[in-house]
Amino acid sequence: MRQPLIAGNWKMNGSLDSVSTLVEGIKAGLDSVTTAEMAVCPPYVYLPAVATLIGGTSISLGAQDVSDQEAGAYTGEVAPGMLTDVGCKYVIVGHSERRSIYGESDAFTASKFAAARKAGLVPILCVGELLEEREQGITEQVVSRQLDAVIDLEGVDALAGAVIAYEPVWAIGTGKTASPDQAQDVHSYIRAKLAALDSGVAEKVRILYGGSMNAGNAAELLAMTDIDGGLIGGASLKAADFLAIGTAANR
Ligand code: PEP
Repeated sequence: MRQPLIAGNWKMNGSLDSVSTLVEGIKAGLDSVTTAEMAVCPPYVYLPAVATLIGGTSISLGAQDVSDQEAGAYTGEVAPGMLTDVGCKYVIVGHSERRSIYGESDAFTASKFAAARKAGLVPILCVGELLEEREQGITEQVVSRQLDAVIDLEGVDALAGAVIAYEPVWAIGTGKTASPDQAQDVHSYIRAKLAALDSGVAEKVRILYGGSMNAGNAAELLAMTDIDGGLIGGASLKAADFLAIGTAANR
């Protein structure tokens, strides 16, 4: 049985004050979440403060991005080892905002995935199609290509120690959610693709859904067989909403 993971991607939001209020709110209601692992991914600069705030709780810490390099003259970058140093367990790689706004390719995303794993982080690998790709009927090809970049570099085994987040780009931050059936179709495609390579990996890997998941739609999405949790943007910025998504995963 795969433990659901509900991970909050705070993106470039917050202040020292507001992240503290948010974490205290999540902590106050954490007992209502009985099954899922809850994780938060603050902006880099708030990671140490949030690590301290969540100390002694079951909340996990993640970062939103990482360098593909270990150390050296890479101005502005943050190394995987630095993330483990400040207490991160997870790191998001290949988020669609990194791919589309900053032009990060499948190959670059795969090299970040590899660097993260080497440092002992659990990568949350984001995959997903643009609206025009869905309309062209090439969703599976796009997701497959994004996964193959990692599989070709690291082998399918690497995905056993990772998390995949299926995030249709047209559903991110738009208020448009994939229907449970639309999401399940892609999740089951991903699991079947992995099963063709290694059934153990396919059974083990958690596949999260991301894209306007909220307190109102989480239960029906999380009820689908191959949806093992959520990567939550906007709704992770309010403790009550984030907790409601967590409790929607109670079994
Ligand atoms: C995300 O950024 O990963 C995301 C899913 O955002 P939102 O929930 O706001 O659509």
